[in-house]
Amino acid sequence: MHWYKADLHIHSVLSPCGDLAMSPHAMMKKAGEMELDIIAVTDHNTVSNCQVYYEVARKYGLHLLYGLEVQTAEEIHIITLFDDLKMATAFGNIIYDSLLPIANDPEFFGDQVVVDAEENIIKFENKALINSSLLPLDEIVKIAEQHNAFIFPAHVDAPSYSIIGQLGVIPDYLNFIACGITAKADPQTLISQYPQLANYSLIKNSDAHYLDDIGSGYTEFYLDSPTVEELKKACRSECGRTVYVK
Ligand SMILES: [Zn+2]
Ligand SMILES: [Zn+2]
Repeated sequence: MHWYKADLHIHSVLSPCGDLAMSPHAMMKKAGEMELDIIAVTDHNTVSNCQVYYEVARKYGLHLLYGLEVQTAEEIHIITLFDDLKMATAFGNIIYDSLLPIANDPEFFGDQVVVDAEENIIKFENKALINSSLLPLDEIVKIAEQHNAFIFPAHVDAPSYSIIGQLGVIPDYLNFIACGITAKADPQTLISQYPQLANYSLIKNSDAHYLDDIGSGYTEFYLDSPTVEELKKACRSECGRTVYVK
């Protein structure tokens, strides 16, 4: 077992708010410079760029988890991570189909671009991805679990789209084992503000939309291998696995 430095919340060029400089090669180069071992591409409500970014990540010796940042009907952002592309795609399709058929406004939100490994644009996504699913949080968690995801609220201390901001609490019955926190957060201060957070492994990520932000928030995991199951074990402190966040 050894330590893996992970940033599990990064947006690609497909997120409307993601910078068009967040191409696969530029992202992996920066992730390498930041000495990250595991990253996750987590675009809003879609996995359409994950396969290409995974292929490029491998060339850079990086482990990439397939992910989505889902926006629930309650306007809560939830990170869902997968080892398996088929599972990620099946879950991603359910979420994508549950978005209202509203067109993206590129002038206002930015372009939503699907790319290939050579960074050619192969599609402009027309559906507005920065929108809520019609599915509620508990339903999304249930479906994600059925697809073997590692699930955690994206940024519990953020001013918007956070589970605490929207609901006031983290419902126990959802059985989360981890909570995402923002890059600049101090975990101990957060726990004193929200004592409930002491019950969860806190995971700091960058939520990068720009290259310079990749790795600005990260978490170290002591694992046997860089998989979703191992990350879950670390969050539960099982079998010697553990999580370290600064
Ligand atoms: Zn978010
Ligand atoms: Zn995000």
